[in-house]
Amino acid sequence: MNLTELSLEQLCQGYRKKDFSVTEVTRAYIKNIEEKDGEINAYITKTNDLALKRAKELDEGNFDLPLYGIPLSLKDNISLKDVRMTCGSKMLENYISPYDSSVSKKVKEAGAVILGKTNMDEFAMGATTRSSYFGYTKNPLNTKLVPGGSSGGSAASVASNTALVSVGTDTGGSTRQPASYCGIVGIKPTYGSISRYGISTMANTFDSPGTMGHSVEDATSLLKILVGRDKLDATSLGNESIEKIDLKNLDETYLKNKKIAIPKIYMEMDLKENVMSEFERAIKKFQDLGGKVEIIDLPYLKYVIETYHILVNGEIAPNMARFDGLRFGHRTKEYGSIEEMYRKSRGEGFGKEVKKRIMIGTHILSLDLAEDYYYKALKVRGLIKRDMDMALKDHDFILSPTSPMLPFELESNMSSVEVYQADMFTIPANMAGCPSLSIPMPIKDGLSVGIELTGKRFEDDVIINCAHIFERSFK
Ligand code: GLN
Repeated sequence: MNLTELSLEQLCQGYRKKDFSVTEVTRAYIKNIEEKDGEINAYITKTNDLALKRAKELDEGNFDLPLYGIPLSLKDNISLKDVRMTCGSKMLENYISPYDSSVSKKVKEAGAVILGKTNMDEFAMGATTRSSYFGYTKNPLNTKLVPGGSSGGSAASVASNTALVSVGTDTGGSTRQPASYCGIVGIKPTYGSISRYGISTMANTFDSPGTMGHSVEDATSLLKILVGRDKLDATSLGNESIEKIDLKNLDETYLKNKKIAIPKIYMEMDLKENVMSEFERAIKKFQDLGGKVEIIDLPYLKYVIETYHILVNGEIAPNMARFDGLRFGHRTKEYGSIEEMYRKSRGEGFGKEVKKRIMIGTHILSLDLAEDYYYKALKVRGLIKRDMDMALKDHDFILSPTSPMLPFELESNMSSVEVYQADMFTIPANMAGCPSLSIPMPIKDGLSVGIELTGKRFEDDVIINCAHIFERSFK
């Protein structure tokens, strides 16, 4: 039996029957990391010693914990006490987190074994995991290709069986898009379902932690542990719809007569490679399972990318101000004045994409331009949200591909504006705070096309249940 190929449920059962111990499973995962991660580079920091220590405690302890002995990885923008947190940046190369994020605290208490911190685009800005200071992560399905991003290390750790499940973050698609590129499941719940306390902020009104796994069931089991209101994050609300999910007892006919909306502009796009044909196959499958598909007009969706980048950069610029060599982060060696210290520390510590976004953000927030850019974009966000809410009033969920393209070559010289297109289908859910997930179509020619379901706020159970039935229908 290969212990690193068991599902979450199979691991739980095996532990209960004493087929294997947590230490054995942890050792099997560490062995996989040692064998594969030199090439894949999913991890920035491996926590082997902590993992084995925890495994030993669990072997002597309590089986009843909900994530008992589950091997898990955390994106490296999530604080884990006494472990380095880099956010993929030279700025935080040597930063050791002095406290646990609420997410880390919850997975620890639930009995998970944390194997390490995963690679990511610098400060979660990107869709390729190429902007990390710690090198590219490779796509385990094909090591010449990008794994997606920004949570590319998390997706690659699951896809290469060097973690069973992973926690990522999603500001404009960073959990769903890498999940789709690596052929796994990624779930971003309703905004506010999970506490963001202790997670490095990119854009406060968009950010959400998300979960990844090989199946809807695995990703959901982790999600259930993470949701909940937290007094340390005033924007966290919890989410009862996730707590009540029961995939084991889900009615086979759950999808019957569910109303599914597809935005008309998505059908008119010239999608790359076999994204369109696989999307059409997915539509047919939903119809075979009893879903009622309707093409609807959502005119404002065509502005999502431009609107997103104005708003997100407007939030990024002030959030990045704390990394100044004084409060947080890298400090330059030589400087004559405080101003020079700031300038050189930030100049040396941040990479190109981060600097670009800080500059754009600062520019569009300046007194003369805020009216033309930032406030205008806020209004368009309102219109996009209204479009989505109207579609979701009459439908159970919106269906689309997760990304308009397949993973591209690691060495590709696509411009950053071309890469921004990768998030065109994922951003609307962040704009409107809706739950959204990516589920892989079966592998074809070595790759999988991700299919995205986006639902009503605080009705995450609907998309998760439907995705579970969809996934099962291929087995
Ligand atoms: N790729 C998007 C961006 O570059 C989304 C990033 C994210 O969700 N963290 O902003």
